[in-house]
Amino acid sequence: MVALSVYFHERFLDHDTGAWHPESSVRLVAARRALASADVPFEWREPSPATTAQVARVHAPEYIQSVERLADRSGGALDMDTHVSPASYEAALLAAGAGVEAVKRAVSVGERAFLLVRPPGHHAVRSRGMGFCIFNNVAVAAAYARAELGVERVLIFDWDVHHGNGTQDAFYQDPTVLYASMHLRNHYPGTGAAFEVGAGPGKGFTMNVPLSHGAGDGLVKHLFEAVLEPMAREFRPGLVLISSGYDSQQGDPLGGLRLSADAFHWMALRFAQMADELEAAGPVCFLEGGYEPELLAGSVVRTLEGLAGRVVNFIPEVSDSDHAEVTSTVNALREHWSVLDEVH
Ligand SMILES: [Zn+2]
Repeated sequence: MVALSVYFHERFLDHDTGAWHPESSVRLVAARRALASADVPFEWREPSPATTAQVARVHAPEYIQSVERLADRSGGALDMDTHVSPASYEAALLAAGAGVEAVKRAVSVGERAFLLVRPPGHHAVRSRGMGFCIFNNVAVAAAYARAELGVERVLIFDWDVHHGNGTQDAFYQDPTVLYASMHLRNHYPGTGAAFEVGAGPGKGFTMNVPLSHGAGDGLVKHLFEAVLEPMAREFRPGLVLISSGYDSQQGDPLGGLRLSADAFHWMALRFAQMADELEAAGPVCFLEGGYEPELLAGSVVRTLEGLAGRVVNFIPEVSDSDHAEVTSTVNALREHWSVLDEVH
């Protein structure tokens, strides 16, 4: 029986983004309620804040201080969409701290985890918060695992409908962190083209799969079986992290893809099975987007079922257009990965 934890702190609810903002505490309240009645065994854990030294592996010290000062001065905005309220600095450190604790337990005791956190993180770049994100939680956790836990290689998969530009930036020249993202093409923040494959020693260790409007379960199945899982086996990560955004689900108001709740269950299960096979720690799932609270809540529960190893019947039809969606990604990465030789 695998140990499973969900990280949550009441302080996450106090990060106030203002009236009518889609990234509100309602999302976490709905997911917490759904988890409380879920038929899957797990432990609730309350995180401690990350230290500024841990956050500074990914963010400029001046930026970290500027968030603290903004919170102390009763708040302000980092960009049009990204607000800092008096509680936001503490909430952001707790969200990053949840990642640090979860990867530590993943490596030391073999635990899998879901991080029910906000603010989210994958858009936050070195010196700037953006896209509802303040500190890049998944990047801070990956950098911590590399620096302090002896983990040699980290795989980060991002299934949010938006490209995780901040995470990509953090590891763009780093061959020890494979960042792979599927996202809606020509959507916020505008990055994540198939030809963005990394630079310098990190060339080949960034993978972007920009998708057409309406892509869904067939694409997920094809991408995993033909491309992502073979690449993961070649990469051999010591730790698997997932940027779990649920705005890629059919019906999300900020989305445009059509993933079902079954798809999230199946992706979590496949990553859990892959981690076992490769003797990697994780998966650890970091909540990113997802803006229809009840859809989000249902799929968080399904993700946890996947992490718990519960089997799901997932046999979507894979169409020719699903194959075409991954062609430019495979062509951009082919020279770097021998497992892609046979993929057309
Ligand atoms: Zn998103």
